[in-house]
Amino acid sequence: MQSLLSIENLTVSFDTEDGTARAVRGVDLHVDRGETLALVGESGCGKSVTALSAMRLISTPPGRFESGRIAFGGKDLLTLPETEMGRIRGNDIGMIFQEPMTALNPIMTVGDQIQEAIQLHQDKGEEEARALTLEMLRKVAIPSPERRIDQYPHELSGGMKQRVMIAMAISCQPSLLIADEPTTALDVTIQAQILELLNALREETRMALLLITHNLGIVAETADRVAVMYAGKIVEEAPVEALFESPAHPYTRGLLNSVPRDDPGRPLEPIPGAVPNPSDLPPGCAFHPRCGDALPRCRRDVPVRLPVAGGRPGHWTACWLYAER
Ligand code: SF4
Repeated sequence: MQSLLSIENLTVSFDTEDGTARAVRGVDLHVDRGETLALVGESGCGKSVTALSAMRLISTPPGRFESGRIAFGGKDLLTLPETEMGRIRGNDIGMIFQEPMTALNPIMTVGDQIQEAIQLHQDKGEEEARALTLEMLRKVAIPSPERRIDQYPHELSGGMKQRVMIAMAISCQPSLLIADEPTTALDVTIQAQILELLNALREETRMALLLITHNLGIVAETADRVAVMYAGKIVEEAPVEALFESPAHPYTRGLLNSVPRDDPGRPLEPIPGAVPNPSDLPPGCAFHPRCGDALPRCRRDVPVRLPVAGGRPGHWTACWLYAER
């Protein structure tokens, strides 16, 4: 089956004062119709750059697509003319961001903003677009939508603003929704409501969800598959149960060990060291300065993608511990 979104060997760099920052290095990733793929990792690992690349929202310069292909519905997004890419954005791929306040226009009512998005992408008159806007506000469970439609963003709570962003993103029924840390700015109760809403919308519309997050609790509740990213590379990919039951890569194990659990006697084990500077990455495996299992070759050779022996289909890791010795 052909994937809805297929990223192959994507490398994205940025020219900075410190030199070339290699934010994404040879990433391969796919998202199938109707599934949720969670892309996880610490801040600065390249998750958001990967997501923005799929929308072709990287400013070039300072960014540069050095290699790769991003296939969506049979088209290579990296070579499309901007007019066609503009049609795909919003129509076929929707995106919601971490901080809705910065993404919404403070001097337009939320209704006008959703309506504008609808009229930009669909052949609808004003009345029809307003009716659809109301329907979208109902769909994302905004209370009193008839009143809220004429309010400005500052009159809405953080959770409601995020619902407005979701309404705008799904108003054209995209087949893929990219959600970049969609609940990070919200409190825990609202986080749960937004995740429930995203899950329900996905089931109802069969859209696929690419969920960018550093929160493993969210991953466990929401994702079908997980890709773990470190220093611009995918280091492990697995069905969600397999990742939590038998994490293979030392970095994934470190992430899981550093999450608070119900066991009060169990100390948290943070990963030692810090994320490397993308302008000055260590040779070989970029995780080797922080890895307690490093082998001599880890300092020299970049690990390749290897199946996890005895693992579930689709479970692989880029770690020399899994190479045949
Ligand atoms: Fe650790 Fe080596 Fe595996 Fe990298 S390749 S995670 S350094 S064991």
